[in-house]
Amino acid sequence: MRDRKSACVGRPTWLAVLLGTVAGMALSLGSSGAWAADCPGNPNALGTSRVLVVDPREHPRLGAMQYKETLPLRDHEVVITFDDGPLPKYSNQVLQILADQCVKATFFTIGRQAKADPEGVRKLAAAGHTIGTHSQNHPLSMNRMTLEQVQPEVDQGIAWTKAALTDPSALSPFFRVPGLLRGDAVESYAASLGLQVWSADFLADDWRSISGAKVHELAMKRLEARGKGILLLHDIQARTVAALPKILADLKAKNYRIVHVVAATPDRPATPTEPEDWLVHRPSDETPVAHWPAITPADLAGADTRARAALDDFGNLDVPPTASRTLPKPAWPRPLVKQRLATAPALPAPSAELFTWPPVAPLSARRHQVVRVEGQAATKPASRPVRLAALRRR
Ligand SMILES: [Zn+2]
Repeated sequence: MRDRKSACVGRPTWLAVLLGTVAGMALSLGSSGAWAADCPGNPNALGTSRVLVVDPREHPRLGAMQYKETLPLRDHEVVITFDDGPLPKYSNQVLQILADQCVKATFFTIGRQAKADPEGVRKLAAAGHTIGTHSQNHPLSMNRMTLEQVQPEVDQGIAWTKAALTDPSALSPFFRVPGLLRGDAVESYAASLGLQVWSADFLADDWRSISGAKVHELAMKRLEARGKGILLLHDIQARTVAALPKILADLKAKNYRIVHVVAATPDRPATPTEPEDWLVHRPSDETPVAHWPAITPADLAGADTRARAALDDFGNLDVPPTASRTLPKPAWPRPLVKQRLATAPALPAPSAELFTWPPVAPLSARRHQVVRVEGQAATKPASRPVRLAALRRR
């Protein structure tokens, strides 16, 4: 039987409920732990803190590693991206690890992989992740490709990823160049399609032959050096699968927050941002930056309607306008130098002896004084013989 006191604790009053709710809301705004409440089965999940809606046409290229703009993230905000999938063996594990933490990421799929594993693409969409593309065959030569070569790689990558999706509109207009080997042709073609080209802010080298522990170490070290940013990983690597749970745990422990990026649509406007929020090297308050609106032709036309200055406006000057065109010659320095030379006292000429150096013995003779040369008696034997060969070496 429960006593009166415990019954009271077990049945909180409406005021206690209200206070608890307010406290919970405050907590949710102040730390990443808030979104854990929305993660079924994992009250301590990292979660996803917010959705950032971006307009590719306003910001066609991003990523601090290669471009002057990157995502307008706040301090301690992280966007996780995965390239080169889907590959069921590892992509499914990555999806499960992200699901356990209720983390939303961005996947850049390869068309050839989507063709081989269309279900893998549908799993990305079903889990609510953002899907972009990463070419058809992942050529590591896009920096040298012509427009004609780039075009089918980009187009087929999109076509096969779309074909794998139940709803093709689930594909975002995001593109990542294979190997980050950017080039003018691929960038201009992507821009013509309205694609946003994503580089990255930092890597974890998970395509190299390193351990999962090293991938985790690099990811965290590079993130902490920047304080925020876009992390590039690969969902086709065992080492990435090994590193990912620890990376997410560390993000949670160090109060980093996950941001989910989606593309703007007619029904979903871009998140309001300032142009400078996108700059990789954001100017400080100490840097002079022009904030005035640009001068337009209309402004100039308006200025032209004012009366021009006439010569008569300067009629109150003492010098007549014609005389003012002939400027007087400056009195300095020629006359002044001539005058000083004329009045300068004559000093005695220096003796020629002042420029004569005392006689110096030839180098061979000087060396003879300190070097004991084999077969000859030294005129002044050196206390410690020096080898001639050593002196000559340069
Ligand atoms: Zn790749």
